[in-house]
Amino acid sequence: MHKKFEELKQSGALPTPSGVGLVILRRTQDENCSLEDLVQCIQVDPALSGRLLKLANSAAWQGAERATTIHQAATRLGTRAVRGLALSFTLVSSNRTGSCTHFDYDRYWSYSLACATAAQVLAGERGVVDPAEAFTCALLSRIGMLALATVHPEGYSKMLEAHGTSTSHELIATETHEFDINHWEVASAMMSDWGLPDILTGAVLSLGTAGRDLTNEDPLLVAMSILLRESSQVADTMMATMRDREWALGAEWVDLLSPTAGPVVDRERLRPVLEQAMPMWREWGTMFRIPTSATEPAATNEAQATSALRILQSIPNLHERDSRDELPPLTPAEIKVLAIDDDPRILRLLSHHLKQAGYQVRTAENGEEGLQIVLDESPQLVVTDWVMPELSGIELCRALRRMDAGRRTYVIILTARDDEQQVVDAFGAGADDFVTKPFNPRILLARVQAGQRMIELQRQVEADKKLRMRQVAEMGLITRKLRAAAQTDVLTDLPNRRYAITRLEQEWNNSQRTGKPLSVVMVDIDHFKRINDTYGHDVGDVVLKQTAAVLRARTRRGDIVCRLGGEEFLVINVNSDMESAVQCAERLRVAVEGNTITAEGFSERVTISLGCAVRSSVVADIDDLLKAADEAVYAAKAAGRNLTRESQRRLPETG
Ligand code: GH3
Ligand code: MG
Ligand code: MG
Repeated sequence: MHKKFEELKQSGALPTPSGVGLVILRRTQDENCSLEDLVQCIQVDPALSGRLLKLANSAAWQGAERATTIHQAATRLGTRAVRGLALSFTLVSSNRTGSCTHFDYDRYWSYSLACATAAQVLAGERGVVDPAEAFTCALLSRIGMLALATVHPEGYSKMLEAHGTSTSHELIATETHEFDINHWEVASAMMSDWGLPDILTGAVLSLGTAGRDLTNEDPLLVAMSILLRESSQVADTMMATMRDREWALGAEWVDLLSPTAGPVVDRERLRPVLEQAMPMWREWGTMFRIPTSATEPAATNEAQATSALRILQSIPNLHERDSRDELPPLTPAEIKVLAIDDDPRILRLLSHHLKQAGYQVRTAENGEEGLQIVLDESPQLVVTDWVMPELSGIELCRALRRMDAGRRTYVIILTARDDEQQVVDAFGAGADDFVTKPFNPRILLARVQAGQRMIELQRQVEADKKLRMRQVAEMGLITRKLRAAAQTDVLTDLPNRRYAITRLEQEWNNSQRTGKPLSVVMVDIDHFKRINDTYGHDVGDVVLKQTAAVLRARTRRGDIVCRLGGEEFLVINVNSDMESAVQCAERLRVAVEGNTITAEGFSERVTISLGCAVRSSVVADIDDLLKAADEAVYAAKAAGRNLTRESQRRLPETG
C-alpha cells in the first residue's frame, strides 16, 4: 500500500461510506456472502433501495423486465456490482459538504455523476465492461480529490486557489509536491481498501500516468481505463450545458485529463451518448439533490450546505483554535423541526407553536411523508404523533434509527396520557423524548428546547472530532515535511549525510540478508578550494550545485546520490558489484569532466576523483566501507586526480 495513503487512512478523516454502506462493505468482505444477505442489508435503507432499483431499470438494461424488488434488481446487477453501487451511493449522501473553502462540493459531485452516467451508457453500448461497474468506477474515480480536501482542507484549498485553472498534469504535480500523493493514487488506494476489484482500481490509477504502457495489462482493465477517459470527455460536455450557472464555466473540473492523454469520443458518437446520458444524469441529480442543470435551483440543498459550511468555517485556524472553544449556540431559526400528525387540526397547532418559538417548521400528515422529508431535508428534530395510518410514529422512529440520514435526528413522540407501556415502547424504538397528548404548548416547547441543547452538544462533539482528525492529519504532514527537510541538503537538494548513513545501514542489512552485492562510490571534487579562493564562495556554491545535478542525472534509477558534506558526495549502488561500481564511477567522471559550469564571471569545467568499495567479508561495517572508499579516493588523488580507483581491500582469494 502507498505509504502516504496509510497515513491518510490513519488520520481517520478520509471520506468513508456510512451506515448501510459500511455494513454492506463489512458483510460482503466475506466471499460467501449470499445475494440474500446483501438484499437484506439494502432493504433496511429505503433511499438506497430506491436508487438501486432505479439503476437496475435504467437504459443500460433495456429490454429486461422491470425490476420491482431489490432481489430482482440485485440479481440483474450482480452481487459485485450491487456492492460497489451501495458503497458509492452512501458515499455521495454522506460527503456532500465540507470545510475545504475552494473545493466546490456540488460541482464535484455533479461532475462525478456526469462521468458515472456517461460511463454507464458507453459501457452498455460496447458490451465489454459491466455498465454497473463502469458507473461505480467513474463515480469514485475522483474521490481522491474529495479525500485530500477532507483530510487537508486548508492546504488543499490553498492549492486549488493557486492552481485552480491548472490542467490535470499541473494539478497532479502540485498534489504530489504538497501531499506526497496524487488524487488518482488516493482514489485507487481507497477503492482497493474497500475491496473493489483490481480492474477498477488499476484503471483509475492508469489515469494519472498518461503515457503508461498498458499493453501487458488485463484487457478489461484497459477497456475500463479507456472508458473512464472517454466518460470524462462526455461529462465535460454535460457540465458545459450548465453554462448559465456561473460555476459550470470554470475549467477546473472540466479538462482534468489532458486532451492528449487518451482516446477521444468523436462528435458523431458523442450525440447519441449525450442523448442517453443527459436525462439520466439529471434524474440522478434530482435524486441526490445535486445540481445538474441551470434551471434547477436546488435551494434547500445549498442552504443546508452553506449552513454546514458556516459551522465548519467558524472553526478558525487549526493551530490557533483551542479545541475546547465553544461554537456559538444555535438560534431556533437554525433548527428545522418536522411535525407529523394525521389530524390536520393538531398538526396546525403544533406548527403554530413551533413557528411562534422561531423554529423552521415542516409538516407531514403521515409517517411515510415524514420519512421522505427526513431523507430530503434532514431536519434536526422530529415531533411525531404515535397512532397514524400506514407508518406509525413508533415505526417511523425505528426506520429513522436504521437509516443514515435519520440516526442523529432528535425524535419526540406524542403519547397518550397515563400509558406507561407506550412510553417504554417509545424509548425502546429509539425515541429521545415524549410529550403526552393533548399537549400543553409550554411543556412541548420546553422538551423541544431540551432537544435543541442535545443537538448543540452533538454539533460541538462533531466539530471537535473533525478538528482533531484534521490536527492529526496536519501533524502527519508537518512531521513528514520536517523529516524530509532534516534529511535533505539545502544547497544541492540531494539527500544529506544523515540520510546517507541511515540508508546505507538499511542497504547493508538487505545485502547481508539477500546475499546481493552492495557497492559505494565516493566522489570528491578536485582542487575545489582553488575555486573558492579565486572566484569566491558563491561561485563555489554554484559549482557544487551543478556538479550535484550532473551526478544525479547520470546515476541509474535506484542508485542513491547523497552529499556527504563539503565537496564530497556518495553514490550508493544497490545490487551492484565492484565492476559495475567502477562503470558507474567512470560514467560520472566523464560526465562531470565534459560539463561546463557557468556562473557570474566563471565558465569552467571541474573534475572529480572517485573511489569504489564493495561490501565483503573483509569489510567490517558501513564505517569501514566508507573508509575503504575514502582510501580509494585518496589513491586517485595521489595518482594525479580526475581518476577512478578501486579499494584495495579485497577478499584474499580474489587477490
Ligand atoms: P583536492 O583536490 O585534494 O580534493 O583539493 P580540494 O581543494 O578540493 O580539497 P579540500 O578538502 O582542501 O577543500 C575543500 C574545500 O571545500 C574547503 C571548504 O572551504 C570548501 N567548502 C566546503 N563546503 C563548502 C560549501 O558549502 N560551499 C563552498 N563554496 N565551499 C565549501
Ligand atoms: Mg574533500
Ligand atoms: Mg576536493
